[in-house]
Amino acid sequence: MKNASEILEKMNKNQKINYDRVFQKVQEDWIEQGIRPQILLHSCCAPCSTYSLEYLTRTADVTIYFANSNIHPASEYERRKIVQQQFIEEFNQRTGNEVKFISADYEPNLFIKMIQENHLAGEPEGGKRCTACFQMRLDIVAEKAKELGFDYFGSALTLSPKKNSQLINEIGLDIQKIYSVNYLPSDFKKNNGYKRSIELCKEYDVYRQCYCGCIYAAKAQGVDLKIQNREAIAFINNQKKI
Ligand code: SF4
Ligand code: SF4
Repeated sequence: MKNASEILEKMNKNQKINYDRVFQKVQEDWIEQGIRPQILLHSCCAPCSTYSLEYLTRTADVTIYFANSNIHPASEYERRKIVQQQFIEEFNQRTGNEVKFISADYEPNLFIKMIQENHLAGEPEGGKRCTACFQMRLDIVAEKAKELGFDYFGSALTLSPKKNSQLINEIGLDIQKIYSVNYLPSDFKKNNGYKRSIELCKEYDVYRQCYCGCIYAAKAQGVDLKIQNREAIAFINNQKKI
């Protein structure tokens, strides 16, 4: 299986890397070799997974890994998880794909402890707290990919224009060395990926959350967590009746 490092070594290190181009080169190798790789793709809720799945399932088999102990409160975590699963089911029905879903344990205390021990609570969104949050989640995904024998691990996070995809890719490339499992480079927002994700969210009627996930971002944004919690619980209860 082609590793992105082999491609990056041949690229001009002084230029900003187009990670979608790197992905395409990895993909060319799959096509040349007639391989359809198994990818474990991290996703933190359905919106970023929409286009990422449409893009990847052309040439690979994908399992979504919901590993997001950063999400607060627990009801919102559960809501995003349900919406993610529902999207996959409908995506499979409409496209004939067989995308799978697995989830990690929800351990919010570990996330809070990590943030507090590193004094990152007061960081702005996009700062060092987010770097640590990406590291924590990509680490979990790489470990699971290794354990389950996937060919690659990656993240749908690079679709979001609010997320630093250069940083996410650098973290992934670093973590692959620890677990000896290939990191899948990506920049899903390229090729109008973000625009397409908005269209897909409309087509599939996907819930789009109003804050990234953690309590710190929610508070900084002025999100009313009591209302958020109430709405998430109502959503979950409604699903139980269906
Ligand atoms: S980056 Fe934001 S929109 Fe994208 S999957 Fe994560 S929480 Fe959802
Ligand atoms: S704002 Fe989002 S990426 Fe940053 S720490 Fe919070 S949940 Fe993680």
